[in-house]
Amino acid sequence: MSRDLVSAKNLSLLVKWCEKRGLTVLFAKHENGTYDECTKTITIAANALPEKQVFYLIHECGHHLINAHPGLPNRFEMGYEQTEKKITRTFQHRLACLEEEMEAWQRGRNLARKLKLKLNEENLEKLRLHCLHSYVKWASRKK
Ligand SMILES: [Zn+2]
Repeated sequence: MSRDLVSAKNLSLLVKWCEKRGLTVLFAKHENGTYDECTKTITIAANALPEKQVFYLIHECGHHLINAHPGLPNRFEMGYEQTEKKITRTFQHRLACLEEEMEAWQRGRNLARKLKLKLNEENLEKLRLHCLHSYVKWASRKK
C-alpha cells in the first residue's frame, strides 16, 4: 500500500473515533492542528501531507483525552485553561502548556496503538521533536 493510501485509511479510522466521542474534525486552511475544547472541534491543515495530517490529528486527539475527565485533578490546570494575564505571562503557565504538549503526543501515540494504525514511527518522532522544540523555545524565553 502506498504511504498516502495508508494515511487515508488512518485518517478515516481516526475521524470515526472522533465522531464516536462527539468531536468534529475539520480540514481547513489552517496551520498544523488545533483542538477547541469548548466546541469539541479539531481543525487540521487541509494542505498538509496526509501523513502529517494523521500525526497532527493523533496529537489533537491527545489534547482531547487529557481534557476528557473534568472531574479529575488536572496537573495542567495552570496551562491552557488560564486566560488571566498575570498567570499567562508566568513561566509556570508556559511550562504547564509544554507538559500538556508532551502528554498529548504520548496519548496520541497510545491511541494510534489502540486503533492499530500503521505509522512511520521515525517520521512521527521527527514531527514531535519539531513541534516540541518550538514549545521549548517559547517556554524558556525571557520576558
Ligand atoms: Zn498541542
